[in-house]
Amino acid sequence: MNHFDHKDGVLHVEDVAIPAIAAAVGTPVYIYSAATLRRHARVFREGLAGVPRKHLAYAIKANPNLAVLRVLADEGYGADVVSVGEMRRALAAGMPPADIVFSGVGKTKAELAAALDAGIGQFNLELEEEGVVLAALAAERGIRAPATLRVNPDVDAGTHAKISTGRKENKFGVPIDQAAAMFDRLAPLPGLNLRGVAIHIGSQLFDLAPLEAAYTRVGELVAELRAAGHTITHVDLGGGLGVPYKAGDMPPSPADYGAMVARVTADWDAELMFEPGRVIAGNAGVLLTEVIWVKPGVVHPYVIVDAAMNDLARVALYDAYHDFVAVQPNGDRMTANIAGPVCESGDTFAMGRDIDHVVSGDLAVFRTAGAYGATMASTYNSRPLVPEVLVDGDRFAVVADRVAAETLIAAERVPDWLNEAREG
Ligand SMILES: *Cc1c(COP(=O)(O)O)cnc(C)c1O
Repeated sequence: MNHFDHKDGVLHVEDVAIPAIAAAVGTPVYIYSAATLRRHARVFREGLAGVPRKHLAYAIKANPNLAVLRVLADEGYGADVVSVGEMRRALAAGMPPADIVFSGVGKTKAELAAALDAGIGQFNLELEEEGVVLAALAAERGIRAPATLRVNPDVDAGTHAKISTGRKENKFGVPIDQAAAMFDRLAPLPGLNLRGVAIHIGSQLFDLAPLEAAYTRVGELVAELRAAGHTITHVDLGGGLGVPYKAGDMPPSPADYGAMVARVTADWDAELMFEPGRVIAGNAGVLLTEVIWVKPGVVHPYVIVDAAMNDLARVALYDAYHDFVAVQPNGDRMTANIAGPVCESGDTFAMGRDIDHVVSGDLAVFRTAGAYGATMASTYNSRPLVPEVLVDGDRFAVVADRVAAETLIAAERVPDWLNEAREG
C-alpha cells in the first residue's frame, strides 16, 4: 500500500496535489511520501514479530536522502552502509553509530579507520585480508572491532544478473565452505570481535526458496562454528525482498518472509540483523515528469518526457519496468513508446506500451521510483541533477536541490597551460 492516489481526477501524494509541486519545483523531480516510508518500515518490523532479537538496518544505498533517513531513524531503523559517504549521511541524519553496519566489498583502509573512529556497530568482512587489516587498525586504537564474516552460499536468487550477489562467481563474500577455516584464523586476532556471519544474496527477490536455502546453509555454518568453539551472537540476513513494479506482480509479503525467517532460525539463539532497502523505499517514491513532445513514430508515437536515463537509470541498467501514469488522466488510452531527451537509444522507458493518453505539457509519473532512483542519477548530457521533494500529510519540502549546469561547470577548471597557449 502507498499514498499515491487520484482524488477528483488529480494524482495526489498524501494530501498534496502533484501539480502544486510541479509549479513550485519544476520537473523532473522525485517525490517521496513520508507516510508510505513509515508504513513500510512498520510492516517490515511487524512481519518479523516472530523473531525475538532483531536489528533493522535500512540499506541506505536504496535511497540515501537525509530527510528519508531521518524518517526511518525516527522509526527506530539503523543503517547498512557501503561507503564512508553513506556512513556520514547516516550520522548526519541522527542515526546512532552503534546502529550502523558497514558492508561493501571494497572498503579502503581509510574507510575502515574512519568507521572505527566513528564507533560504528558492525563491520561485515568480505575477505580474510580485510579482517587482518581491520584487526590491526582496531588494535592500534586499543579497541576490538565488532565484525561478521560475509559468506557466499552459492545460491541462485533468481533475479536480474546485475543484482544477483550470492552465486559463487559473484564478487561478494567468502565461499561458505572456506568460512570455518577463516574463522579459526581471524577470531583469535586481538583487534577483532568476530561475532557472527552475514549474507545478502541479491535484490528484487520474488521467491523465498533461494533465501530459505541460503539461510539454512548459514544455520548449518553457525552450528559448525559453535562446535569448533566460536562464540556466535549475531547473524546478518541481508536484504533483497522484492516489490511490485506492475499490476499482477506478487512478491512475497514481509509477513511471509518473516514467517519463513522465524521458522528457519527458531533455534539459532542469536541476534538477527536485517538490511531492507527497496522494500522500504521503492513504492514510497515517484519520478514526476512533463511531456515535452508527442513525436509521431513509424510504429507507435514517441512520448518524449523531460526525465531521462540519467535521472532514472533502472530501465537502461536492468530492463526495469516503471508504471507510467498521467497526473490528470482524461480517460483515453494510447499505445506509445516513452523516451527521454538523452542522446542514446537506451534512454527509452517503454516500447509499445498501453498508457494514459497524454499531450505535450501534461504531467505524468513513473511509479515505484523511491529506491535506486535519485541515488543513481547523474548529470549525463549536462542535465541538472534531479531534485527531491518529501511530502508529509499536507506539507511538502524540497529535500535535495536541483543542481544546475552552472554549479557543475563552476567545479571544473581549464589548466593554466591551455590558457597560456591561447594568450601566447
Ligand atoms: C543492496 C544491499 C542491501 C539492500 O538490498 P534491497 O534489495 O534493496 O533490500 C542489503 N544488504 C547489502 C549488503 C546490500 O548490498
